[in-house]
Amino acid sequence: MRVKRQKRHRKVVRFYSACFGFREPYKVLCDGTFIHHLLVHGLTPADDSLSHLLGARVLLFTTRCIVSELKSLGESHIEAVEAANQLLMARCDHEKRVSAETCLHSIIGESNSEHFFLATEDCEIRKKFQEAPNPLSCKRKKQNENTTVINNQDTEAGGVRKKKRSRRRKRDHKETTQ
Ligand SMILES: [Zn+2]
Repeated sequence: MRVKRQKRHRKVVRFYSACFGFREPYKVLCDGTFIHHLLVHGLTPADDSLSHLLGARVLLFTTRCIVSELKSLGESHIEAVEAANQLLMARCDHEKRVSAETCLHSIIGESNSEHFFLATEDCEIRKKFQEAPNPLSCKRKKQNENTTVINNQDTEAGGVRKKKRSRRRKRDHKETTQ
């Protein structure tokens, strides 16, 4: 089962590499819920877990807004703050902290030009990013429409792809560690 899933994940990664220019090392943008999840489930070192899942080297990112949101959650999230501080910081221009969702959106935007995979445990954030036009939703349409949308948008909607993948990743992590 695990091998099957792993094959599926890697196939998806290959697809995004070929069609949308995602390149190794893959950049994974983690929000606070995901960092917390990794720690709670002992999925560390996180880059190893994610590398294994995606079948390639990864770089883990977060943002200053996400770190300060974690800080604001107090004692229970101290470990998550420390872990988040060890990740690379994706640059956001928010002088005052904004919500994780707003911050992620500002980084990924409509085109996801930086080719981030988004890793979150937050259903609302996933839903929100999935509302945007994206190849995954296009898959349900007829083939012809898909290809045009994908070609036109090129690297767009990576955020959504990322989310889907990250869900899978998470499941995988659980399986591999338990
Ligand atoms: Zn920010």
